[in-house]
Amino acid sequence: MKKIISAATAAVLALSLTACGAKQDKKKTVKIAYLPITHSLAVLEEAEQAESELGIDIELVKYGSWPELLDALNSGRVDGASVLIELAMKSKQEGIGIKAVALGHHDGNVIVTSDEINTAADLKGKTFAIPHRQSSHHILLRDALAKGGLTIDDVSVTELAPTEMPSALASGQIDGYCVAEPFGAMGVSVGAGHVLYTSEELWEDSLCCGLVLTDKFISERHDDAKAFVDGYKKAGDSLDKQKAKEVAKKYLGQTDEVLDISLEWISYSDLEITEEIYDTLAAKVKEYGLSDDPPSYEDFVDASL
Ligand code: ZN
Repeated sequence: MKKIISAATAAVLALSLTACGAKQDKKKTVKIAYLPITHSLAVLEEAEQAESELGIDIELVKYGSWPELLDALNSGRVDGASVLIELAMKSKQEGIGIKAVALGHHDGNVIVTSDEINTAADLKGKTFAIPHRQSSHHILLRDALAKGGLTIDDVSVTELAPTEMPSALASGQIDGYCVAEPFGAMGVSVGAGHVLYTSEELWEDSLCCGLVLTDKFISERHDDAKAFVDGYKKAGDSLDKQKAKEVAKKYLGQTDEVLDISLEWISYSDLEITEEIYDTLAAKVKEYGLSDDPPSYEDFVDASL
């Protein structure tokens, strides 16, 4: 009888150890959605460093478009994402439990136009592509038009997939575009157009992408969330041009020429979201009609991580 009991106890012990081990493994993995663009290099670099330096595992989940990525984030299939901040703000406004915890990058967008457009005023009557209405690319277009004394009613705006933009410009289907990189650099590299404005010429300290985490992940696994965000900011600080190019080559599969052009426009250090830059963004979002009621800094940004 004694023997049977100890065998049963051993079995229970083994079971609970297995359960415990499984739980622990699950705890260590952070599932993050991303698109293969230079704007998400900080999280890609962190994933490269994570296992050795942070003691957490980052499972990167690649998506082909913002709507697909957003669907995964909003339905809780991932713990977080590197995403256009305006899309995340819209989700928050619609009641999705997410928080922005860091910037994706600084600057890093350009307005590319055909060679016959040399001033903002030349955009009058032209067709211009953006990836999504809820984007800093849309805001940058509005800022550029304002420089030329124009409004959104003076141009025809079309939403196109980022990968289609360089060829649409080359074929004359559109006259200009603004989109996440390296697709602007690609248009320049193939000679389809030139840079009319860099983002910092239109909007100093512009926001574009943000690192967003779900409320569930932050509350249930606060220590992991903190370690993840710390590691993310350190990864961003470590991304000089050479390192950024190495990670971009591994995950984005772009040519040296395209990456050399693109990485001149972007930086990844000091990625915290300050109240000042967020309030400037929220004001633009309202002014240009992306949203009447963007979330407040207090509601949307978790600066404690
Ligand atoms: Zn971005």
